Amino acid sequence: MTQVHTPEEMQGISHNWQKDKTIGFVPTMGFLHEGHLSLVKESNKQCDITIVSIFVNPAQFGASEDLGSYPRNMERDLQLLSEYKVDYVFIPTAEDIYPKPYRTWVNVEGISELLCGASRPGHFRGVATVVLKLVNLVNPDLMFMGEKDFQQVAVLKTMLKDLNLRTKIVSCPIVREADGLAMSSRNTYLTGETRQQALCLSKAIHKAKQLFSQGITDTKVLLQAASEIIIEHNAEINYIQFVHPETLLPAEIAVADTRMILAVKVGKTRLIDNAQLGTLL
Ligand code: AMP
Repeated sequence: MTQVHTPEEMQGISHNWQKDKTIGFVPTMGFLHEGHLSLVKESNKQCDITIVSIFVNPAQFGASEDLGSYPRNMERDLQLLSEYKVDYVFIPTAEDIYPKPYRTWVNVEGISELLCGASRPGHFRGVATVVLKLVNLVNPDLMFMGEKDFQQVAVLKTMLKDLNLRTKIVSCPIVREADGLAMSSRNTYLTGETRQQALCLSKAIHKAKQLFSQGITDTKVLLQAASEIIIEHNAEINYIQFVHPETLLPAEIAVADTRMILAVKVGKTRLIDNAQLGTLL
């Protein structure tokens, strides 16, 4: 596993491999867990070369968000990655990604303003900009991303298509803890009590799926049942929606591929989760 630190070096390496090998890319913000590693494994299966990036992207954090305290442990991340077939790990600096003065941004209209975009203004502009820059440097055939960030995948698929980029996204299933909590670097913020409260997201999903499997398709009824579970756990609903899997627009009547998607605050920690209503959790 070779560490790459500068954009120029990364672009040169990819340019060399691109001629006769397929490149798989896994962008991350580090503090790696089994969710990230599942993407690495999938890239290994589908591509000749696997490149992982570790970059905590300041542009996707709002002023009052957790950029300063976002968990980091580069030594541990490199150790974890070295146990897999990772050919290159790209670790750029913020100065290299956002040379000063920085002026060029990517805005994927509409879809970026829904759901998480409504409560985190500018978040998807930061995500789209950094991912376009990384794609430009790594030039992957396939980019492996988690369904955990369902809206992120939808925004980035739109960006790649709109900008005629050759990279395709492979979205991979959510990896969960044994008790149902979706793995996330931010789970490290959860202590005894909030760790228990955090189970309300997967429990709310479970409840909605159960009702759907019994024939209840009115999303108002599903929303009511899911909300009760969040409230019972003393957590704060940011949003719970039932949406079309591609447009992310709300559905009144749920069908099997309707996505239930939610964001909930547990203590100070904002957690997200989602699932297709018609499949088992
Ligand atoms: P992050 O480091 O949080 O930016 O995540 C990097 C990538 O890992 C994104 O594509 C995430 O969707 C994905 N990811 C994060 N958590 C999980 C999970 N629990 N299961 C699957 N993929 C995940």
